Amino acid sequence: MGIKRNRIVVKVGTSTLTNEIGNSNIRRLEELVMELSDIQNMGNEIILVSSGAIAIGAQKMHLDGKPVELRMKQAAAAVGQCENMFLYDKFFGYYNKTVAQILLNEDDIRDEEKKENLVNTFETLLDQGIIPVVNENDSVSYNEIESDEKIFGDNDMLSAVVAVLCHADKLVILSDIDGFYDKDPRLSKNAKLISRIETIDESTYKLAGGAGSRRGTGGMRTKLQAADIATSQGIDVIVTNGSNTKALYDIVEGKKVGTLFVAHKA
Ligand code: ADP
Repeated sequence: MGIKRNRIVVKVGTSTLTNEIGNSNIRRLEELVMELSDIQNMGNEIILVSSGAIAIGAQKMHLDGKPVELRMKQAAAAVGQCENMFLYDKFFGYYNKTVAQILLNEDDIRDEEKKENLVNTFETLLDQGIIPVVNENDSVSYNEIESDEKIFGDNDMLSAVVAVLCHADKLVILSDIDGFYDKDPRLSKNAKLISRIETIDESTYKLAGGAGSRRGTGGMRTKLQAADIATSQGIDVIVTNGSNTKALYDIVEGKKVGTLFVAHKA
């Protein structure tokens, strides 16, 4: 019997990649990179969708808190993206892995020709055993940073779009919380984790609170939207806590972790 090769998209949010004072969470990053490298060594294909550029850039530029002005956000994104890729390149390099940067905006996915080229690029990188690291192209497109109607919403939606484009088997969204609860646990102490969700409908959306943590931006709503898109295309989605990256091994083995949004059968 052949080994089942899983193609896994892993999304990490700003709150997983940075610590309380907005600096890079180097230990977390190192653990994540080690586990992803190991999971790739086990015969799986990995695509990493990583946010955090603006926060890291702001810190590197010694700005006072998160930038407010658009041009400052875009400048911080340019600086932070460079720093993020430098760290990924270095840490993955320890495990003899090669990473590639892919920066996207909406047009790249809407335009059929660009989309086809993009899929070919992903397939070629994965064939070569390279780990694509994907982010929104925040220094160029301003929609995502500024708009209330965020298409990608702190990369949750971007990760779902990438998972669909690449025909992934699983999408793992690492958050600052253990999974999806029956109410926002930041507001209700008695909130209960829902470990399995078969259908996402209006009643599910009602359980998700507002915009999310101070460092994250998407909140649970954009994770539900992402899960909706990916599960409808036959991709299992797992939302779990990025503070325990070891859970990635359990996810690969199909064990119960966080909240599983079950893929719809074709
Ligand atoms: P990240 O970028 O790390 O994913 P977000 O702040 O975007 O973090 O999203 C996670 C946050 O969503 C949680 O910290 C929580 O406060 C909030 N939230 C709102 N409703 C829910 C819910 N029903 N279950 C879990 N978390 C929820």
